[in-house]
Amino acid sequence: MSDCSGLHPAADLDPRGYLGTVRAVQANYYRVVLDTLPENVALAVLPPQSGERPELLCVRRSRLKKTGQQVITGDRVVVVEPDWSSGRAAIVDVLPRRTWLPRPAIANVGQALIVCALAEPEPDPLHLSRLLVQAEACELVVQICLNKSDLVSAARVNSWRARLKSWGYEPLVLSAETGRGLDELQAVCRDRISVMAGGSGMGKSSLLNALLPDVSLRTQPVSGRLQHGRHTTRHVELFAMPSGGWLADTPGFNQVELLRCRSEGLARCFPEARSYIAHCQFPNCRHQQEPGCEVRAHDWERFDHYLSFYAEISAREAAERDLPAPDAAVKYKTTRDGRTAEPRLDSRYRRQSRRSRRQSVQAYRGDDLEALLQAEQAEDWS
Ligand code: GDP
Ligand code: ZN
Repeated sequence: MSDCSGLHPAADLDPRGYLGTVRAVQANYYRVVLDTLPENVALAVLPPQSGERPELLCVRRSRLKKTGQQVITGDRVVVVEPDWSSGRAAIVDVLPRRTWLPRPAIANVGQALIVCALAEPEPDPLHLSRLLVQAEACELVVQICLNKSDLVSAARVNSWRARLKSWGYEPLVLSAETGRGLDELQAVCRDRISVMAGGSGMGKSSLLNALLPDVSLRTQPVSGRLQHGRHTTRHVELFAMPSGGWLADTPGFNQVELLRCRSEGLARCFPEARSYIAHCQFPNCRHQQEPGCEVRAHDWERFDHYLSFYAEISAREAAERDLPAPDAAVKYKTTRDGRTAEPRLDSRYRRQSRRSRRQSVQAYRGDDLEALLQAEQAEDWS
């Protein structure tokens, strides 16, 4: 990616209309913040959440509905026919997405802020590694945020800093309590959409509130379910940061299941191992037991994480290749503890096509936005 910000270069006026970013989706309405307010126009309200830029309440044009073009938070859109006095307009087009994350669906996220407390609770390297790998697999810029630095000694901070450096990262040392490092955090969020991820109790809500002092956020406690990556809050909202970037008010991804990762290419999600990959004897080396494997030959702390994630992902891939028939007696569920089988409900009324089975797998994995949104709608109605 040439421009890793996740945002498209600003061109204020598309020949078809005004360019803007979808800040939030509410039922069939979209809150679109325009890149700029045209001269000679006054808008009654410039909400602080939009960075005091013009925000219009938009509908989706019927042509987009007909073609099934979804609009999600973070989308870059073209709006037309603004009614400046009522603050209304219509979306006629969606620009190609650079990235998108599932559950809740957000487009064009450029950066993952992986929040990890230095104490209370103690850092869990394997869990941290999962989040890092997941973020790398989504092709996001990764920024580790070591929070609660006020609770530990400088020596402890330094030893974590050195350890994470050996993982290929330069962490920010923060304290939501004292404000340490918040200016640096503001600076790395400039001109891009960022999402926070991290386990419960790490201080994500506290950091959000410290970063967005003008916005009283509806932060939610991180539930056990959310940790499993099933149901996250649907109504994700972007907030303008004083530095000019956007911050999503909900964890963008907290799946502990490495859903976006494939076994092939997993090693690339470990920055500290990237330079070894090209030197393996075989181009399709899986970095397990192959002769002439450079990745294995080097001594790096997270190689064990690589092996354990590899085993987990290849088991899932094998299961996906061998999808159960619609009327199979058991269904499989992926949980934190691995894959478990449970009896299917009576399948008399449930004739699932091959296509919809494939789609639900893709939706679950977060590969296919269309399938994901359909699955979520189905869940809403169930
Ligand atoms: P979340 O679950 O990740 O959203 O975490 P919260 O923001 O709810 O924080 C969990 C607990 O840690 C709360 O009691 C916070 O007051 C506390 N906390 C958050 N950040 C800090 C920090 O920088 N220093 C200290 N000492 N406590 C913090
Ligand atoms: Zn290798």
